[in-house]
Amino acid sequence: MAESSQAWVTLATNDSYSLGALVLAHSLKRVGSTRRLVVMVTSGVTMVMQDQLRAIFDEVHLVDVLDSKDAVNLALLSRPDLGITFTKLHCWRLTNYNKCVFLDADTLVLQPCDELFDREEFSAAPDPGWPDCFNSGVFVFRPNEDTYKSLISLALTKGSFDGGDQGLLNTYFNDWATRDINRHLPFIYNMCSPSHYSYLPAFKQFGEGVKIAHFIGPNKPWSQFFDSETKTVRPSPTAGHLKYLFQFWWDLFCAHVHPHLSPDMALDREKLLLNETTKLPDQCASDVKITNDSKREAGLASAFSQMKLGEPSPAATMELQEHLRRSAWEQGSMDFMGADAFENIWSKIMDTVNKGPSNK
Ligand code: UDP
Ligand code: MN
Repeated sequence: MAESSQAWVTLATNDSYSLGALVLAHSLKRVGSTRRLVVMVTSGVTMVMQDQLRAIFDEVHLVDVLDSKDAVNLALLSRPDLGITFTKLHCWRLTNYNKCVFLDADTLVLQPCDELFDREEFSAAPDPGWPDCFNSGVFVFRPNEDTYKSLISLALTKGSFDGGDQGLLNTYFNDWATRDINRHLPFIYNMCSPSHYSYLPAFKQFGEGVKIAHFIGPNKPWSQFFDSETKTVRPSPTAGHLKYLFQFWWDLFCAHVHPHLSPDMALDREKLLLNETTKLPDQCASDVKITNDSKREAGLASAFSQMKLGEPSPAATMELQEHLRRSAWEQGSMDFMGADAFENIWSKIMDTVNKGPSNK
């Protein structure tokens, strides 16, 4: 099969995730991938950022549910909760390609992995939280308009058991766990970040073979504190085990992304901030106004564009990163050294066990 009919596909609905997409694309180039690079974007990605993406991706594909006229999309307008889920499903409409591998924008390719294109739809790796389900951050698929329509109709009739694309896709491809072991991608193709501490001996044994790392949850590389003077990342205490992976992400960012970030990003961001009533772009079908958080998301890339490597970060960049770290914490990064420390959890378990069954 011609390699030009195969593509890596990712998604970004705002400028922060676009930073992830840019670093991901460079990580694929670094390992010499021969497949095409496609990024799907929504109108939440600023024009200057779309230009940055165009410089490395073979195709920047704008997906915008509000402009689509078909009945399926119209039905979705009444379900704003499916916004981002729906956006990812657009990958099945990339019918110029025969076979694709979807990668979340928070993944990072560490070693060559073009052999993934030898797999069939639907291949994915187990989710560390519930291994009978697959994680939807990395999957092999075949673009097909009919599959897209069936997925949307499932979304509308049954919804998603976790509210996101992963629940929906696991319901749709529900024989993944049992039908064909070849469709189980080895975990090294989607090594989810919590696995470092949840099964450390396995990580020590197999970690070197990891080909794709996935920063699931609130601790994204771009929201970690980065010391621009020394070019080192200082992860939040809950994400310290990921320091070397975060550092690799930032090394690629400094070498390939930062030099091209344009000061015009600040102007684009101002436009977004001025228009308070703009529809929240990353929830295509929603009427929600831009919230303070999404403004900050839009501002992160522009703040990085003003950062000078080898010099201390400007106060605005520090303030934004601090805010993102705090919201990551509030979104559920556990306090493993404090209230959620093993000793505390263990003593709570023992208390409960010692009390015996409550219906005695
Ligand atoms: N995404 C996006 N904008 C958002 C949230 C998600 O573009 O505001 C895309 C992006 O490609 C991201 C993917 O959807 O990698 C899935 O979200 P995320 O990686 O944050 O979920 P997790 O892997 O942490 O469950
Ligand atoms: Mn992800």
